[in-house]
Amino acid sequence: MMRTISGSVLYVAVGLLGPVTALTGQERTEPAISVKAIVGGSVVDVESGRVIHNAVVVIEGDRFSAVGPASTTPVPDGASVIRADGMWLVPGLMNMHVHFGLVLPGQAGAELANETEAELALRMAAAARASLWAGVTTVRLTGERGHVDLALKRAIDRGEVQGPRIFSAGEAIQVTGGHGSSVGEIANDGPYEFRKAVRREIRAGASWIKIAISGGIATPGGDISAAYMTPDELSAVTETAHRLGVKVTAHSGSPAATRDAVAAGIDCIEHGYFLTPEVLRLMKEAGTWFVPTILVSQPATRPFFERIGSPPWYLARVEAVGKRHWDALRTAIDEGVRIALGTDQLPHEPNDGTIATVREAEYYVDAGMTPLQALQSATIAPATMLGVGEELGTIAPGKLADLVAVEADPTQDISALRTIRLVVKGGEVVRNDRAH
Ligand SMILES: [Zn+2]
Repeated sequence: MMRTISGSVLYVAVGLLGPVTALTGQERTEPAISVKAIVGGSVVDVESGRVIHNAVVVIEGDRFSAVGPASTTPVPDGASVIRADGMWLVPGLMNMHVHFGLVLPGQAGAELANETEAELALRMAAAARASLWAGVTTVRLTGERGHVDLALKRAIDRGEVQGPRIFSAGEAIQVTGGHGSSVGEIANDGPYEFRKAVRREIRAGASWIKIAISGGIATPGGDISAAYMTPDELSAVTETAHRLGVKVTAHSGSPAATRDAVAAGIDCIEHGYFLTPEVLRLMKEAGTWFVPTILVSQPATRPFFERIGSPPWYLARVEAVGKRHWDALRTAIDEGVRIALGTDQLPHEPNDGTIATVREAEYYVDAGMTPLQALQSATIAPATMLGVGEELGTIAPGKLADLVAVEADPTQDISALRTIRLVVKGGEVVRNDRAH
């Protein structure tokens, strides 16, 4: 855990430097660690749905140190005060299916055909910065090229690049002839090759393993229903990863492939385009997480695909998959499958007048979640899935200080997330629209 969120260490170190007294020779009374207080806002407890009005949120260094009503929560002397009157404070948003280096079929993708790894790194760094600015303070990367993702994560942790906290699966692992190759997927056959691939990714710094166990929308002619991996290959992946404390997720649209993966002890399923009630019940029983990425198959995304010049076969495929994907999501919500939000688009990608992350949450409400459940799917649920529920996912003393402020109550209407005005990550104010 320390390794994956080591970015916090940097902020503490910066905070400890405090004011420069050596230059003036004067004694100062300022605290050594920077202290901030966000006052006047309404804090949403995403676990219970309770709201603390006229709250004081105290941040010391990179963590929350006190959260409560103004009447009982004093603002520490010397704290810098951030006004949040009329705003609702919610934990920083978390998006669990992201490719910062995403390349999709079509014109925009074709223009990247000769992209070097140096160019890719800069493009990914720009995407990371834009994601954080938009309010997404944690992402899980589910397949990137050349371990640029792991270099980017380290650069963000060191403070060289601005971006969200990154949990990454490194390069995705698949069978020969499997799903796609644009997001850094490597081919293997048989349990021995899969074991080696898993160990190689973990050695490189991956904190998840991503496998592709069925075809996908972006696989021309690839069958979404097909189960690519054999049970011995699946078990080799889960057992090897779990021995090293690393979780495994799978790209899957296929009920048959998902059934096999759940039997092999997989931790999470991505997309789930064609999942049936029977398979979703198996996931519920096993506690398997589901990251729906519903956005990629729904009408709100059409202008996005047109903008990037997607070919007609791709648009037809999106439409064909959309209805069954929607049914799978509705059933998953009905059955109580654990859901963490993910988009399979850049977290901040414009969609339907908002960003992809928020539009995805709105779709969850349309499909049967309460606004609070949708909020949980973007905060405490991902934190729990990542195994960092003690560190992230709620605004509570002791946790890393990641939050956003919005102009309406998101427990009443999830679209309140369209109005993000303040972004704080690790106690640092990334963006404050009111300060200008
Ligand atoms: Zn993806």
